[in-house]
Amino acid sequence: MTTPTNSRSGALAPIAFVSQHDGSRWIEVLAQAMPYERIVDDNALSDAEALLVEIAIVADPSPERMARYLHLKWIHSVWAGIERLVPLAAARQLPLVRLVDPALANTMAEAVLAWTLYIHRDMPAYAAQQRERMWRPRNYVPAGEITVGILGLGELGRAAAARLVAAGYRVTGWSHSAKAIRAVETFTGATGLHTVLATADIVVVLLPLTSDTHHVLNAERIVVMREGASVINFARGAVVDTDALLRALDADKLSHAVLDVFEAEPLPTNSALWNHPKITVLPHISAPTNRDSAAIIVASNVTRFRATGELPALVRVERGY
Ligand code: NAP
Repeated sequence: MTTPTNSRSGALAPIAFVSQHDGSRWIEVLAQAMPYERIVDDNALSDAEALLVEIAIVADPSPERMARYLHLKWIHSVWAGIERLVPLAAARQLPLVRLVDPALANTMAEAVLAWTLYIHRDMPAYAAQQRERMWRPRNYVPAGEITVGILGLGELGRAAAARLVAAGYRVTGWSHSAKAIRAVETFTGATGLHTVLATADIVVVLLPLTSDTHHVLNAERIVVMREGASVINFARGAVVDTDALLRALDADKLSHAVLDVFEAEPLPTNSALWNHPKITVLPHISAPTNRDSAAIIVASNVTRFRATGELPALVRVERGY
């Protein structure tokens, strides 16, 4: 492999790793994946060195820290969800790349299957029965009689759909543009959303958070859902209107909600969600990024850019994802 050089100076400028969290493990694996690059923690770069930086690899960076990189050419997020980076990329007209990793999609698909089974096989109810020392078999419904509706058929939604189909569930899905996915009935638009919600026993939310998807699952839409349906939100907290969801659970309209994401994270200790008998709270763990596979993907994107100037597929900032 030829050693790539930096376009401005002929030598390689550092790549900044910018995060509000401890980035040392990330920097270690990224350096292993691209040993010819100098990847430096944002905090260790002087303001003068920051002016040389053309590529920032970021994990939830603060906008203030990003402001000092005046000669950035593009940003690579090591997270799949980039809603907090979109305003920054839009304001500075900076190309934004997000993590697209089959390993992440696989992990999410596994989580969707696990928590679908949790609801389908009545695990919350059996756990409650055990606490009451109650011996009571519940009605078994085969997977083939259960419809799982997936909101969002992107990298994660499609992987989840395939896993659910393989497990025998009936699967429907909703996305912005029309999709053809084997064994999945797909829908678009407002009437499509209505159909998916009205026919699903379990609704899985895998939409990015944008101005269009904010509170997309609200009171009006919950009303059309099946009596006793359940919700799994693995996307972002604000895609679901939590107050409307709580009201629907309390009114026995919905049976259960598995929530991995919240408008405020960590979920405040005084939140009513923690103790709600019909809510399972997870600490944003449905699909953690695998640093090793992510670093290889980021390295290959950076290497191609250094060699050819070509950027990977970009986030479409104007639509928010
Ligand atoms: P993606 O590939 O961008 O897919 C997004 C999907 O949502 C696409 O199918 C898109 O439709 C659809 N969509 C977006 N806006 C829509 C709208 N207004 N109406 C209808 N459909 C709409 O994203 P992804 O990689 O699958 O990730 C989805 C989200 O999961 C991320 O944004 C992130 O917030 C979340 N996430 C959570 C975790 C976790 O651990 N909990 C981990 C990773 C990611 P088109 O296909 O037509 O564009």
